[in-house]
Amino acid sequence: MVTFVYDFAQGNKDQKDLLGGKGANLAEMTNLGLPVPPGFTISTEACRAYLKNGGEPEGLADEVSAHLTSLEKAMGRSLGAPGDPLLVSVRSGAAASMPGMMETVLNVGLNDESVQGLARSSDNPRFAYDSYRRLLQMFGNTVLGIEGETFRDALDDLKKERGTTADTDLGVEDLQELIETYKTIIEKHTGRSFPQDPREQLDLAVRAVFDSWNTDRAVLYRRQEQIAEDLGTAVNIQAMVFGNFGMDSGSGVCFTRDPASGDQGVYGDYLQNAQGEDVVAGIRNTVSLADMAEVDKKSHDELLGIMSKLEQHYRDMCDIEFTVERGKLWMLQTRVGKRTPEAAFRIAVHMADEGLIDMDEALRRVTGEQLANLMFPRFDEKAERTLLAKGMNASPGAAVGKAVFDWATAVEWAERGEDVILVRKETTPDDLHGMMVARGVLTSRGGKTSHAAVVARGMGRTCVCGAEALEVDAREGEFEVRGGPTVREGDVISIDGSTGEVFLGAVPVTPSDVVRYFEGDDVDQPLVQAVTRLIEHADKARRLKVRTNADTAEDAARARRFGAQGIGLCRTEHMFLGDRRQLVENLIVAEDEAGQEAALAELLPLQREDFTRIFEAMDGLPVTIRLIDPPLHEFLPDLTELSVKLALADSRGHRKKRDRKLLAAVQRLHEQNPMLGLRGVRLGIAIPHLFTMQARAILEAAAAHLKRGGRAEPEIMIPLVASVRELDIVRGQIQEIARQVQEQQGIEIPHLIGTMIELPRAALTAGKIAGSADFFSFGTNDLTQMTWGFSRDDVEASFFSTYLEQGIFPVSPFESLDTEGVGALVRTASESGREVNATLKLGVCGEHGGDPASIHFFESVGLDYVSCSPFRVPVARLEAGRAAL
Ligand code: ADP
Ligand code: MG
Ligand code: MG
Repeated sequence: MVTFVYDFAQGNKDQKDLLGGKGANLAEMTNLGLPVPPGFTISTEACRAYLKNGGEPEGLADEVSAHLTSLEKAMGRSLGAPGDPLLVSVRSGAAASMPGMMETVLNVGLNDESVQGLARSSDNPRFAYDSYRRLLQMFGNTVLGIEGETFRDALDDLKKERGTTADTDLGVEDLQELIETYKTIIEKHTGRSFPQDPREQLDLAVRAVFDSWNTDRAVLYRRQEQIAEDLGTAVNIQAMVFGNFGMDSGSGVCFTRDPASGDQGVYGDYLQNAQGEDVVAGIRNTVSLADMAEVDKKSHDELLGIMSKLEQHYRDMCDIEFTVERGKLWMLQTRVGKRTPEAAFRIAVHMADEGLIDMDEALRRVTGEQLANLMFPRFDEKAERTLLAKGMNASPGAAVGKAVFDWATAVEWAERGEDVILVRKETTPDDLHGMMVARGVLTSRGGKTSHAAVVARGMGRTCVCGAEALEVDAREGEFEVRGGPTVREGDVISIDGSTGEVFLGAVPVTPSDVVRYFEGDDVDQPLVQAVTRLIEHADKARRLKVRTNADTAEDAARARRFGAQGIGLCRTEHMFLGDRRQLVENLIVAEDEAGQEAALAELLPLQREDFTRIFEAMDGLPVTIRLIDPPLHEFLPDLTELSVKLALADSRGHRKKRDRKLLAAVQRLHEQNPMLGLRGVRLGIAIPHLFTMQARAILEAAAAHLKRGGRAEPEIMIPLVASVRELDIVRGQIQEIARQVQEQQGIEIPHLIGTMIELPRAALTAGKIAGSADFFSFGTNDLTQMTWGFSRDDVEASFFSTYLEQGIFPVSPFESLDTEGVGALVRTASESGREVNATLKLGVCGEHGGDPASIHFFESVGLDYVSCSPFRVPVARLEAGRAAL
């Protein structure tokens, strides 16, 4: 026979799955010999059976009866007995704590008769009637589903009538009157009277806990937090102790350390003559733990002793609920407490110093997400703020600047030293330049994996996307807040990428101490010390190297200060924007090879200069440079705009030969699916001199750096290879250039030639490709697009939310690597690549390189390094260390 019910003395803290978090910890405290009111737990298994069968499983009622009988025996009283009743609480408790589920019903067992018995036996009628009205209120609300407001309003009305604001001022008669009111409310709302039978009360409350597993709020919460649907909740039934007995009684909550700052020293609130949630409900002013010592020194000292015992036992910060009944302390709950990111880091290090845990364990207790959080600048919450709208918190940070509505203005204003926020309906690759110079990016459309969001996160740029209340009119240079003000170009706005909020005007920000420290400021602050110690420990523990994605010398230098061990991805496309667009146009419209070469000859020295600066910034560390990847038409003017311009010129009789050629090129290069078009290695093969010009620029820059006594290790990377033949052709050309440059410069240049693995075909034929590659870098953004067959820039806004809701994936595969599908390709390619080429270097340069869950996967595959945006480097160092533990 299955067992559904367990006495508190039977369980322990590791049985959360069976007993729920609350039940497991009540059992643990019981077995530690702490003063816990006795009781028993109905297991999650019973709940699962109930939900499956649509009713209580066979045998449950008998087991409850048996446990109830022994509880009654132990307490020397029977549930709801008329003379001297035993009362119990019925408390929900799933494995993971879950707001949205039924909470707790106290004082179960009271009825019209037993309340009189309790009044007599306790010699405290006020307490007895106060307990009864609480039962009616909680039962009516959580079991019978009547709005809590209804009861609170009735209580408030009565208090008003009596001219008081404190519930403790209500006397016996007042409470009796309130009880009648509550009973009427229950009858009116449910069509039946409050159940007087104590056992029926108990059974209904248990059933309500089971049912609450499937309330909308609970379901929603589980989706958000990725908690499995089928776990079910446990129910705890526990003898009542009474904090509402009088001023020598009370109820409280406390933490063994400050959960906000992580400071050592206890922290808590206590409220006299109170029951249950009164303490946190703010109905009366609570006193601090220190002040509790004045009120009841004995209980206070005992509590402190227990707190320290619990912390030693759990070896972690504990969150505790307790009650004092007539000077006697009772423990009602404990769990490892939730904490802020700051507290997480500080507590972990303190506990290691105290010898409670070792540094490995300390490292396990902090996360990359918490660190990322500590690195964002924040808006000062105390400042006055005017909220305009709320969008999605796409890329964290707090950005203030003048609103601009196109990339050119962004660049122009930024160049003259202004802070700007680029506001767009949505962004396209064209906006890249504007995004790079902006403090933040705000869009009215698109979700967390829209172009704006992904690119902004990659750059560590603050971004709020999908703020739908904004009507963005880029032409007019303004946005209107639906039902609110209009913001024009140049008006200052503030966006909070951690909350998605958009404010009017400049909200003051506080810079992050952690970032100031990395940037070289002398910040001697406990939090910063804790962070650095844990990162240093992670550095010792990790196997994975951490590189950065950096396209400029500035980013490279910053990433290096943040601990990057090289560049894993230097994109070259932005090097063709701005003034250089003209040269790219020249290249594209050139009529013959001579024309092309002339255009490339002009680009060469510019590119060389770009790379020289990057090699300087990354002196001594490997630098992976990706040859130009995007479709060329991205560098050309818009088809419609150009056509209009030409038509106008024609009508005025002007002849625009170059524009006409340009138009022909734009038409020729136009693609229905640019993502699947002429890009990556295909460009290198279609326009041979483009790649070789870049290779030459890289190698000449490296040679110059070497000659100046520096160290450079360029890794030339060919994008979008599908077949080894493509790689062989391009590799041959680059090798020829390398031979020439080394001969001309008279110096040997250490360099590698490798490829991205970002097409399923490449992953599946990696064994062949590895024979022609010195390294693989997994371009997991494209690999995800190509494997799922959806375009990152298009699908997010249209159906991702539905997909997430329906659980097709728990998080966007662009945010966290889809290990099952895309990950399988990464694993296969790594294994077959290494089989052919044992020295093959393996890395990853997609967005996922900075994502904690993905980093753990890459560690398991055995990659050599991950590469991520400069701001994610410390996060990746920490997570790579955690992954290696
Ligand atoms: P939650 O999960 O919402 O914290 P609990 O089951 O912990 O709900 O109950 C809330 C509060 O009710 C507890 O903090 C405690 O003050 C009170 N409570 C629960 N059970 C008892 C009991 N047996 N005796 C006295 N108070 C209780
Ligand atoms: Mg609780
Ligand atoms: Mg790619």
